[in-house]
Amino acid sequence: MPGEKGPQDACGVFGVWAPGEEVAKLAYFGLYALQHRGQESAGIATSNGEQILVYKDMGLVSQVFDETALGALQGHLAVGHCRYSTTGGVTWENAQPTLGATHNGTVALGHNGNLTNSADLVNLVAERYGAQRRGELARGNTTDTALVTALLAGDADHTLEATALEVLPKLRGAFSLVFMDERTLYAARDPQGVRPLVLGRLERGWVVASETPALDIVGASFVREVEPGELIAIDEQGLRSTRFAPIDRAGCVFEYVYLARPDTSINGRSVHAARVEMGRVLANEHPVEADLVMPVPESGTPAAVGYAQASGIPFGQGLTKNAYVGRTFIQPSDTLRQLGIRLKLNPLRDVIRGKRLVVVDDSIVRGNTQRALIRMLREAGAAEVHVRISSPPVKWPCYYGIDFASRAELIANGLGPAEIGSSLGADSLGYISESGMIAATEQSESQLCTACFTGDYPITLPPEHQLGKGLLEQAELPLGSPEDGLHSLSVGAGGGTALDHP
Ligand code: SF4
Repeated sequence: MPGEKGPQDACGVFGVWAPGEEVAKLAYFGLYALQHRGQESAGIATSNGEQILVYKDMGLVSQVFDETALGALQGHLAVGHCRYSTTGGVTWENAQPTLGATHNGTVALGHNGNLTNSADLVNLVAERYGAQRRGELARGNTTDTALVTALLAGDADHTLEATALEVLPKLRGAFSLVFMDERTLYAARDPQGVRPLVLGRLERGWVVASETPALDIVGASFVREVEPGELIAIDEQGLRSTRFAPIDRAGCVFEYVYLARPDTSINGRSVHAARVEMGRVLANEHPVEADLVMPVPESGTPAAVGYAQASGIPFGQGLTKNAYVGRTFIQPSDTLRQLGIRLKLNPLRDVIRGKRLVVVDDSIVRGNTQRALIRMLREAGAAEVHVRISSPPVKWPCYYGIDFASRAELIANGLGPAEIGSSLGADSLGYISESGMIAATEQSESQLCTACFTGDYPITLPPEHQLGKGLLEQAELPLGSPEDGLHSLSVGAGGGTALDHP
């Protein structure tokens, strides 16, 4: 439905260290490949060894950058970010990379994930730096990322690397970080490895990115994952790896279900292959007599292929997706809004008419989209509509970087599958089992987070009042007065920000 969002991811990150390459363009195309992870804002920071320059703005990667902006971003290392917000509002101030002054220079940082101990970190920032707000916090940034950036300021006798090794063990929750100072690129991942982060090799440098397709698009070869609890540093001396915490793996199972690109591989498992297998399992767990298996495009397609393979029912496309309408910031008029789902999906009537359909989708959050879809398929002449979902019912919120909806809005909170099916207007509804979904990922259950399905949160959560997207917008937080602690700041046309080396 227009305005109704499915599960929203929490950012894509990209970093590159490559002397002699146009690093801003590599970062641009890397972010382009990660656009599905965050569409609210985008930014790139580059360094020429002396000075860091960052350019960021609201919108898609292709809307934020043009040749002129990229041409201004010179240097041999870069970090880039595309954002979907999970802590802090959708504002220019909250766009990334964030910038902070350190004792020896500057740090620019991009973050995928969501921290769960932001309230503790606020106190830590206040303890360390007193009443004076620093840097991003002084400029109105209300994200967990700004807190990390402030903590990375460090002491006079500490390098950024040494400060990071002190700060990273204090963070709780999900964080795949890329950051840099004037000379060194860093990448770090939380001990659970909730969100993906991979390392790639260029002929003349290194790349880190949220997902493997961002390596492919810039011609980097996959080396390995950044390990959970690992800090990597890359500069002219090569690559250094330091462990800041033991591995306690709890990767997000929803990355396999929906969030990651199908051409991504996570912890050795192809996401596409996992989704096809989920469809096969679904067919075995919830068989039905039907004439056609059709996906809700695009995310339901691999599971629909698997369902068709295992059931022997022919696969077909019954819906055409308008791929671009969901990627506009223009709100539809009231007349258009009443057309509902037709803004995004249109039925192929001659394929659907008179058929008993199996409609395969990846997840149901609120159910409004599926209800409208089923109505549309019936109007187009479907004889029966059987809905099959390649993830179990979503019953719990995510605090590690995915924005589903509040618990009260989740349709599976309080309703069983049969009730949900009739509320949607489906002839039948079947969800894959938890064990079937987990088996399809080829990961061991103890190494996955499944909290949004099971309520078992692998990283301890603070009290409810210390969670939530607006946490850092509360006025009573001990963050001191809003005065800029940065050395020199200028805001350029188009929202670019330059921070001069102190
Ligand atoms: S709660 Fe769900 S979406 Fe969030 S990290 Fe865990 S599995 Fe992923």
